[in-house]
Amino acid sequence: MFPLVAPAIRRLNEAKYPAIVITNQSGVGRGYFPDSLIHAVHDLMTAQLAKEGAHIDALYYCPHKGDDACACRKPKPGMLERAASEHNLDLRRSFVVGDSYGDIQLAHRVGARAIMVRTGYGEGEIQWHSAQWPAPPDFIAENLNDAADWILRQPK
Ligand SMILES: [Zn+2]
Repeated sequence: MFPLVAPAIRRLNEAKYPAIVITNQSGVGRGYFPDSLIHAVHDLMTAQLAKEGAHIDALYYCPHKGDDACACRKPKPGMLERAASEHNLDLRRSFVVGDSYGDIQLAHRVGARAIMVRTGYGEGEIQWHSAQWPAPPDFIAENLNDAADWILRQPK
């Protein structure tokens, strides 16, 4: 995990924002790695966060390939809709933080606010593709900590 991820999530936890991880893991559908690896990574992440007093409320992943035509692979909204119904969330009052433009599209599709981080693939996406974005993110954050700052400044 990047430094400052745990403190950022802890601050969101303290402000009573549910923190949910939504991830495409087509490596499962392609047979590159088993489901159990996702659970192992989840357990490791949970343990690292717990050491710093942070937690995520849920993790959803899409194991399908792009051509499987499932309803969950981002930027399709299936996982967000499931998270919203299982955790009683109003997506229009939620935030999607991601490092790919697909995450921004996903946010726009459900009426959530979209935050792009420069970490991970983010900087490359911004440098090479932002001229073609049909709609920009609501905020571009240096990292998850900066994203948390922005979220916590918004009216609840
Ligand atoms: Zn899927």
